[in-house]
Amino acid sequence: MKKISFILACVLVFSVFTTCASSFTALFDESEHCTVDKDGTLAAYNGEYDEVLEISAEIDGKAVNKIGDRLFAAKPVNTVYINEGVKEIGKEAFGSSTLVYVDIPSSVKKIGEGAFKDCKKLTSLSIGSDDVEFGKDAFAGTDFLYIAVLCSLDTKALGDKIRNAKGDDKFTFDVMHSNLVESMLEKDIYGNNLIYCEDCGFAYRGYDDIEIPFTDVTRDAWYYPYVVTAYEFGIMNGKSETIFDPNENMTLAEAAKIAACVHLYINGDSEYQFETNTEEWYRPYVDYCYENGIIDKHIVFEWDKNATRAEMAYLFSRADDGYYVPNDDVPLTDIPDVDENTAFALNILALYRRGIATGSNEYYYFYPDAFLKRSEAATIVSRIICYDMRVYLPKG
Ligand SMILES: [Zn+2]
Repeated sequence: MKKISFILACVLVFSVFTTCASSFTALFDESEHCTVDKDGTLAAYNGEYDEVLEISAEIDGKAVNKIGDRLFAAKPVNTVYINEGVKEIGKEAFGSSTLVYVDIPSSVKKIGEGAFKDCKKLTSLSIGSDDVEFGKDAFAGTDFLYIAVLCSLDTKALGDKIRNAKGDDKFTFDVMHSNLVESMLEKDIYGNNLIYCEDCGFAYRGYDDIEIPFTDVTRDAWYYPYVVTAYEFGIMNGKSETIFDPNENMTLAEAAKIAACVHLYINGDSEYQFETNTEEWYRPYVDYCYENGIIDKHIVFEWDKNATRAEMAYLFSRADDGYYVPNDDVPLTDIPDVDENTAFALNILALYRRGIATGSNEYYYFYPDAFLKRSEAATIVSRIICYDMRVYLPKG
């Protein structure tokens, strides 16, 4: 869970990074302070120098193609976002200014001679394209630069151009992945590539050496992959640091906690924290279940009793978002020991239809009144979270 949170945090930072330009719109009334000439060159700027300056690609209905020569030269600029659409940065446009950060979009194809020359405070920038022409000394006299680029760019070609425009090797690329995907496929989770980039093939290798600390869950046990998954996703812990107790029953309180954690995981509110209740440890989880529609208001369980498989079906089917239903034509009559009078029959059926429960033998028997085992709970949890672990049921 920590690993996933960490990598998702990276993805989040990246998406903030790529979208922040658009969140600074209308920092100043551009039409009052900017002059765009008939060629689409931003020729004058008379506004304030805020912390963040955004340069729009259209001002007063006129397209801004170019930031004029020397427009911000020696000016007290700090952070500059150039919007997608601007094509050129003029000669010495920011030369000798106090610029610290600049975001250059992929539409910019030409950076003029000396455009950022002697920007002594410039430490980082982002460049959206490798198809850029750099004028002589465009980055001459700058210090060490951290340059953010997307993984789809040719950093070798871009590096050569920057080296030329800077006159030294004092820069490095921070490669950002443009299409990170969290894979829910079993082969990716166990094969180690939980997170990968569809654009460049980069794979986050966090799951190479999954070691679980439980001495009573061996690799040849049928439930091994499910215990690993439920544990690794932070949904289930052991009974102690080294004991998972796979054949032990669960109380309804424990099942409600799992349902709450699964629901929270699916709904992705990483900020949410369950409170601690020293008198009734499960109360925050139970409250969460009621507040989030996992348990209907009129249903009350005896929390310290063992959960039956039917009760588990109620809690877990309602914690799942029900989005993925690979067996949507399984009829209730296919489950021999469940009918419409069975408690929570429709929830049991929902688990079969979603490929989460498969029955205990080839005839799909569910054993609704049997007590839920911890290994079974781990299996259900895994199949809720990982679509690839769900089971397609043969028809008939
Ligand atoms: Zn990538």
